[in-house]
Amino acid sequence: MSPSFDLSGKVALVTGANTGLGQGIAVALAQAGADIAAVGRSAPSDTEARVTALGRRFAWIEASLDTIAPVQGVVDAALERLGRIDILVNNAGTIRRNDALDFTEDDWDAVVGVNLKTLFFLSQAVARTLVAAGRGGKIINIASMLSFQGGIRVASYTASKSGVLGVTRLLANEWASKGINVNAIAPGYFATNNTEALRNDEARNAAILERIPAGRWGDPSDLGGAAVYLASNAADYVHGAVLPVDGGWLAR
Ligand code: NAP
Repeated sequence: MSPSFDLSGKVALVTGANTGLGQGIAVALAQAGADIAAVGRSAPSDTEARVTALGRRFAWIEASLDTIAPVQGVVDAALERLGRIDILVNNAGTIRRNDALDFTEDDWDAVVGVNLKTLFFLSQAVARTLVAAGRGGKIINIASMLSFQGGIRVASYTASKSGVLGVTRLLANEWASKGINVNAIAPGYFATNNTEALRNDEARNAAILERIPAGRWGDPSDLGGAAVYLASNAADYVHGAVLPVDGGWLAR
């Protein structure tokens, strides 16, 4: 059987799809045929326009993901409005920058909450519906270069993204036999709100660019192919993997 990247008839739930990498991923999945449930706290009007222009269905499920309180409601709303969930992209995430000596409990909880805790419990809620429906699905977690490296001044971000890789592998181990593929994408340095402070810092910007073999910051559209691949039948035997999309950063 030849591999298929076609996502027609599938529904993808994407968190944080109003901007940045989540928007790039949502549009790429829609280009491959998927309908999109966008979950987040800011209206995803631009994403909605781009997805519906492709002829796909789009539902915005408003939720703040810093606690797991809305998780079950989000899943129920997606099922009610789009009928099914086949693909979950855990993309919503945040970052706090501070010296480790000055890092606060709030800097820790705010980041680990959305980046790791909600990621796990949303995956659990979606997986329960897949198991109940008696079919498989795809879960794609957005990791980071700081799933592999230590970074600097981003203690809770590094902890959360290193945790994302561990949880991806754990869930793959538990759910592969149920037909649920759990994998991660590790983006390198992309031009989004998340990295605005770095790009505005002339010295950091130059140091980062100097290390990227591709010689440029990533654009959200650069993630589309990896997301479509991991969401598709072409990745049916791929479990617990992490796919770096980093312009070659990790190869240095
Ligand atoms: P971004 O432009 O700041 O987007 C982050 C998204 O997450 C936004 O939609 C944001 O919503 C949402 N979000 C954050 N906290 C939330 C909360 N408590 N509840 C609901 N939604 C929340 O940054 P991005 O670069 O696209 O980041 C997307 C993912 O990629 C994150 O997990 C990030 O860690 C990861 N990543 C980014 C890079 C990079 O170079 N940019 C590299 C590696 C990994 P609002 O718009 O409402 O804030």
